[in-house]
Parts: sequence; structure tokens; C-alpha cells
Amino acid sequence: MAFEPLAPGAVLGILGGGQLGRMLALAAGRLGFDVAILDPDPDAPAGRVAAHLITAAYDDTEALRTLAGLAQVVTFEFENVPAASVESLTALGVAVAPGPQALAVAQDRVDEKTFLNAAGVRTVAFAAADSAEEASEGVARLGAPVLMKTRRDGYDGKGQRWVEHAADAARVFAELGARPVILEAPADFVRELSIIAARGRDGAIATYPLGENHHEHGVLRRTIAPARATAATRAKAERIAAQILTGLDYVGVLGVELFELKDGELLVNEIAPRVHNTGHWTQDGCEVDQFEQHVRAVAGWPLGPTRAVAQVEMLNLLGEEANGWARFAGEPETRIHLYGKREAKAGRKMGHVNRVKPLA
Ligand code: AMP
Repeated sequence: MAFEPLAPGAVLGILGGGQLGRMLALAAGRLGFDVAILDPDPDAPAGRVAAHLITAAYDDTEALRTLAGLAQVVTFEFENVPAASVESLTALGVAVAPGPQALAVAQDRVDEKTFLNAAGVRTVAFAAADSAEEASEGVARLGAPVLMKTRRDGYDGKGQRWVEHAADAARVFAELGARPVILEAPADFVRELSIIAARGRDGAIATYPLGENHHEHGVLRRTIAPARATAATRAKAERIAAQILTGLDYVGVLGVELFELKDGELLVNEIAPRVHNTGHWTQDGCEVDQFEQHVRAVAGWPLGPTRAVAQVEMLNLLGEEANGWARFAGEPETRIHLYGKREAKAGRKMGHVNRVKPLA
């Protein structure tokens, strides 16, 4: 069924009202759309820049009905949206993008890697385990050390532990809550890269230049972009992104986290079916940023150009670091993005800055 491009004045629904929802809402506003946010928090950062805020749980039937009554298209800012909520919205006649397949694959690390390998995309070797016995067998089979991660609900390095010896597998399995896990062989990477890519309703694909990412305690600290990379590496990453987007019949922006190995090979660590922290540099470094691109894609508009117009260092502001806004505001090369969160808890993503300089 052909999708009529959404005209300005239409309402875009977003499940989730955090910083990603907020930046999506701001981009949508620039294109003339109104935004309806659904979030359990009455003070959600995105709710304060949106035309409509529905305060309810993501699986609240009445709230989903209200959202369906307001919005012509619904998207989400996080991948742990209940599948049943997407089904309800679809049943109520609202187009949800990205679709249920992308969501299902991104919610389960085993399904994700199984899909990736089937789509011809390389990952580390892995095994699934649902019990302490299976975990021990899996570690023995893969050979320690192995990274054990919960299959579902992990983010920012949470829900994962290294298993140094096969004999520790059962204990680590219990420490992770005795839930289904994935066991991953270690990636011997030289760098962590990511590629942000988009696919439109018409199947058109656009990719952004690569970002080079640095994490601290499992949380993204810095992205340097465009990353220095050979033409072959860039082409490989673009091919990977295209295989994933096409394989999922995807609509919207997708983040792909990559491990670059010594021999130049790229493995996919994980995919995020949404705008991504490693794509924040595009706000000040590219012709059309990832947030506008996502809105364009889900609204059925043509994708925008993704060329870099500046060299950017994106720095996440965690906890109290955001209190440095006055200093950042005094730096001519610094673009400030603050999320409007009231409480600067330690390690919480409060904002980011993009430090820009001319392209080399
Ligand atoms: P994830 O939650 O899967 O994105 O993992 C968080 C971080 O842990 C990644 O950014 C890597 O630095 C590291 N990591 C994840 N998986 C592996 C792996 N299989 N081998 C080595 N390091 C990993």
C-alpha cells in the first residue's frame, strides 16, 4: 500500500519522552509537525517541547487509543517498547515505523545476531543459554573468556559480565538474574565505530559518515566524526547498513555499532532501531541530521542529504558536567544540547556538546 507523505500540521506520535524523543520532537516541529509523546513520567523531557503529552504506561490500552486518535504515524525512541503496544496501535489503524520485525530483532540479542548472520553480516561467535548448565556448556564450547549478557533489557553495558573461566559460568548466570543469556566470544577490536543509516518508505537508503566511539564504564563518552577510515572500510560499513535495512524492510533511522578488527574486518556489535547517541554529531556536522532524517523517513518524505559539513567531537555531558553550560556557551566552537532533565544524577545523560571545526 502506497504511503501518502504526511503533510505539515499532521501529528507524529512518539513512544518515549527522553532526550531522543525531545530531539525528535524539535526536529519534527521544524518541519511543521505537531508531536504527541507517550511516557509514564509527567515531567518527561520531550513532553515539555511537544504539543501533546499522554502520561501513562506504554501498555496502557486507553492511552494507546488516545495516541492513535491523535497521531497519523507513531515511532519510538527506545527499543524496549512492548511489542503488544505496537500491535495495538497497528490494529487501531496507525502506521508504526520502524516496524515490528526491527523491534523484535533489537529486543533480543540472540535473535539479533541470528538475523544479522542470516543477512550475511558478521558478528562474534555466540551461543544462547537458558540455564546454568547451558551457560557452562556454552562457555566450554566457545572457550573462556566469554562475555555473558542478558538476552533482553540490557543497555549501556548493563546486564553483562565477563566469564574468565568455564567454572564461573553458573555463578555469573545467577548474578545476572538467572535469565536467558547470550554468550559472546571476545571481539579483538582496535576501534569501535558506528554507522547511522536511514531507509525511506520508498526503499531509498542514506548513510552518514562513520563515527569513532569511546566508552567509559559502558557509557558513550565521545564520538569523533567523520572518523578517519579507508574508503574500503567506509564501503564495508555502508554495505552492512544496507543489508540490515533491506533485510528488516526498515523505515527510519538505524544505529549500527561496529567493531573494527586489526585486519580491517567489521563485526556488528548491535543495532538500535532508532536515532542513536553516536549520531548526535550529525546535528552540527551534517547537512540533514539524524533526527530530521528519522522524521522525514517515517513521514514518507524523501530522505535528506547526509554529507558532512564539519569535523565534530561529540562529548556526552554526564551528571554534574552539564552544570558547565556557561563555560561551554563561551566557547565559539561548541554547540550545546541540553535535555531539560531536572536532576543531575551521577552518570545520567544530561546533554551533549558538539565541538565543530572545518573539515580537514
Ligand atoms: P553492548 O551493550 O553490547 O553495546 O556492549 C557494551 C560495550 O561492551 C561495547 O561497546 C564494547 O566496548 C563491549 N563489548 C560488547 N560486546 C563485546 C564483545 N563480544 N567483545 C568485546 N567487547 C565487547
